[in-house]
Amino acid sequence: MSAPRGIAILGSTGSIGRSTLEVIALHPQRFRVAALGANSSWQAVVEQAQRFRPEVVVLIEPAAAAQARGALAALGLPTRVECGVEALQGAVTDPSVQVVMAAIVGAAGLLPTLAAVRAGKRVLLANKESLVMSGHLLMEEVRRAGAQLIPIDSEHNAIFQCMPAGYLPGAAAAGVDKLILTASGGPFRTTAAELLESVTPAQACAHPKWKMGRKISVDSATLMNKGLEVIEATLLFALPESRVEVVVHPQSVVHSLVAYADGSLLAQLGAPDMRTPIAQALAWPERVVSGVQSLDLGQIARLDFEEPDHARFPSLGLARTAARAGGTAPAVLNAANEVAVQAFLDRRLNFTGIAAVIERVLERLDATPVKTLDDVLAADAAARRLASALIQPARGALA
Ligand code: NAD
Ligand code: MG
Repeated sequence: MSAPRGIAILGSTGSIGRSTLEVIALHPQRFRVAALGANSSWQAVVEQAQRFRPEVVVLIEPAAAAQARGALAALGLPTRVECGVEALQGAVTDPSVQVVMAAIVGAAGLLPTLAAVRAGKRVLLANKESLVMSGHLLMEEVRRAGAQLIPIDSEHNAIFQCMPAGYLPGAAAAGVDKLILTASGGPFRTTAAELLESVTPAQACAHPKWKMGRKISVDSATLMNKGLEVIEATLLFALPESRVEVVVHPQSVVHSLVAYADGSLLAQLGAPDMRTPIAQALAWPERVVSGVQSLDLGQIARLDFEEPDHARFPSLGLARTAARAGGTAPAVLNAANEVAVQAFLDRRLNFTGIAAVIERVLERLDATPVKTLDDVLAADAAARRLASALIQPARGALA
């Protein structure tokens, strides 16, 4: 067997990052952790470094990096500790790295993900926000650099698995009629409209099927997660928004489907556990053990499907509007959502206020064409400023 592949994990202390390390730990002959990156949780990174022995650890916050440096030196480990976004970009482009897990949450993941793509790496994309923001720019860089962009998001990974043999994201696959993304419906799938205003961050983060970071948990509760995923699918699989459908499937067992022109519907099924798509993407085109058991269909007994409720969950429609508008609109949508979700988590905005803020920001900032990364970053900054201004300090109020 050849030497183990070097893996860099951006966002190693998060939900996806930790699941990635669990899969890697099962395959020491195949995979080797070359670099770990996180924001500020230095203790968790030090523990990971002790176990996986990467060459470099990058923390964004300088004080956290100093703590990690001291702790690793005290342990007698040779791991270098670096600090800041540029160091993260340097770590992913290093020749010792073949595969980059992009699992930072939110827009902060854009520059390191782009750096990995430009360096022609295999990029495992969990950080959907970076693709939604930069859209065609990122996909063009994938083509130019000959990078492999493999989706980790369970729906897109399911679709990838249902595509013709040898297919890689970035082009439309022959014979595909439409894509069907499944949605669990989130924790408020059956909650009455009038109760949604007063739900708490703790309730929103208690997802019935998936254990995830707080931001994506809130996105799942508003259905904005599915909206971002519609945009993500249009870019990865080169189809218009009108050919990406969404169906609510509470059991979260069918992870998504591809409808072919001949009437065939191909689906990928599995337990709702991110180690499956992570292992699939790490080993592709081979298959390896992920630590996840196969489904017991007898125990599942039935699979239900229903239409999403756009009246209670307007965010999905807002994302479709942004997808159709194109240009800077998805970046504006994403930035307004990040600001509004943080305000909700901080209890400065109520749950239904999230979609209201995004709607107003989209109305006020017209979509303009995206030619360069600066166009994306400017739209992101303008949307953040406007969303912040709309959210009053008083809980739930909109300016
Ligand atoms: P999380 O909150 O659990 O972890 C986020 C990670 O990003 C942490 O390691 C944190 O240190 C790091 N981070 C945060 N801000 C940063 C910054 N400014 N610079 C550098 N690093 C920073 O999030 P998660 O649930 O693991 O999700 C990560 C990404 O994967 C998100 O884009 C999410 O949408 C996507 N995703 C997650 C799941 C899931 O099951 N958790 C499923 C599909 C997609
Ligand atoms: Mg998903």
